[in-house]
Amino acid sequence: MATIIEPTIFELSSAGRRGVRMPASDVPVVDSLPQHLLRSELPLPEIAEVDVVRHYVNLSKLNYSVDSGFYPLGSCTMKYNPKINEDTCRYPGFLFSHPLQPIETVQGNLALMYELQEWLKEISGFAGVTLQPAAGAHGEYTGVLMMAAYHKLRGDSKRIKMLIPDAAHGTNPASVGMMGMQVVTIPSDDRGNVDLKALEAACDDTVVGMMLTNPNTLGMFDENVEKVISLIHGCGGLMYGDGANLNALLGIVRPGDLGFDVMHFNLHKTFSVPHGGGGPGCGPVGVSKTLLDFLPTPLVGILEEGNDEEAPFYGFVTPPNSIGRMKAFHGHFGGGMVRAYTYIAMHGPDGLKDIAQYAVLNANYLQAKVRGHYKIPFDRICMHEFVAEGRFEGSDVRALDVSKRLMDYGFHPPTNYFPLIVPEALMIEPTETENKDTLDKFADALIKIAEEAKTQPELLHNAPSTTKFGRMDEVKAARELVLCCWLPENVELN
Ligand SMILES: *Cc1c(COP(=O)(O)O)cnc(C)c1O
Repeated sequence: MATIIEPTIFELSSAGRRGVRMPASDVPVVDSLPQHLLRSELPLPEIAEVDVVRHYVNLSKLNYSVDSGFYPLGSCTMKYNPKINEDTCRYPGFLFSHPLQPIETVQGNLALMYELQEWLKEISGFAGVTLQPAAGAHGEYTGVLMMAAYHKLRGDSKRIKMLIPDAAHGTNPASVGMMGMQVVTIPSDDRGNVDLKALEAACDDTVVGMMLTNPNTLGMFDENVEKVISLIHGCGGLMYGDGANLNALLGIVRPGDLGFDVMHFNLHKTFSVPHGGGGPGCGPVGVSKTLLDFLPTPLVGILEEGNDEEAPFYGFVTPPNSIGRMKAFHGHFGGGMVRAYTYIAMHGPDGLKDIAQYAVLNANYLQAKVRGHYKIPFDRICMHEFVAEGRFEGSDVRALDVSKRLMDYGFHPPTNYFPLIVPEALMIEPTETENKDTLDKFADALIKIAEEAKTQPELLHNAPSTTKFGRMDEVKAARELVLCCWLPENVELN
């Protein structure tokens, strides 16, 4: 039997208890549903409001969040989410609008979306932006669809290969795989850049393009990025930028200016939309002039120009060679777009630049503090994150042990075993929102753990010891997924 330690809301149920009382109906009751669609029994828990509240509050306290502590999960940009975002996205005009309302009744929402498109264009240097995609990976898929549509329209049907560096996020090859294209892996050189010789050898007229994350998942800005882009363009390919790491570049470098043709943004990373609990993500995609006509439909556009007295009239427009719709309605409006809009408006251009500079400063500060205690395989000035190795000479301690031990010190672990090209990788991204005290305490914990790895490795092997649950069997958890904690009575787990 599976051990389910917290009672579920169903187990707390007791016949006759009530959380809500419905008022008596003040309209005649009509029995219009056909009998076969009615259920005679509905097994809902019977439980009082106070017990429901305690149940969920106690469950939430078992969780770790960026609101409860430092969360250096590399590549994920777990920055603090300012609470003003929560106020604005709950304004009744945003909260209670419906995507099927006539456009003249939602001009404010459309104005916000239009302005967000314009701001993202200005921040990234692209010619057009769609807000539709639901997350980064969905943005990638959208971008790759546009790249394919571009080649197809030109009658260039040989192109089936996408070049992807070995430092890429797993979603890149996955998006390409979903398109039925071939992935060609390009190695990194010893400075963590794309290996130019290997790239040159792979560039030919069967190449759709390349997907490059810059800064990449090693936290390195590719020193030859312009050369890489010109090689791809030279063989007729298009350049995709994975913009998940835009936090390092805000206000400093614009991917569109570097020559990228298409890039997704992760509003839920760079622009402080809360994530990690399953959504809502928001993965807008920016394109250069080359791909402007292929953007998904609909985009928000100005249907009638405004003047001194009247605001413009907003509505929806369809690009001439649009790849079609990528999402029901218009994407994650309230949860994603309103929050990101608030964040950008609050910071302004200078504030955005500060964000990037502090994110890079914080990562370099941490890297400098742990240097000498941990091996740093690509050891140069990093961007918003860096990768260290969680292994030590003469010790059988692994990155996983280091991470679990960090939990005993009260910290969320960094990303483990990614990127794949670094053995026992610990990928550390502090973000700009952490102060020096927090960074110092985290560095001290890492340094202490490196000491323990040599002197008391069992402390690490047995960690975590201060959490409610100890070391999990991660293989079993992955192989025998249990996705609901409540099982109907006749189902047994073993
Ligand atoms: C997070 C991330 C993605 C995927 O974004 P999702 O919103 O999680 O789909 C892609 N690439 C990189 C580098 C990332 O960090």
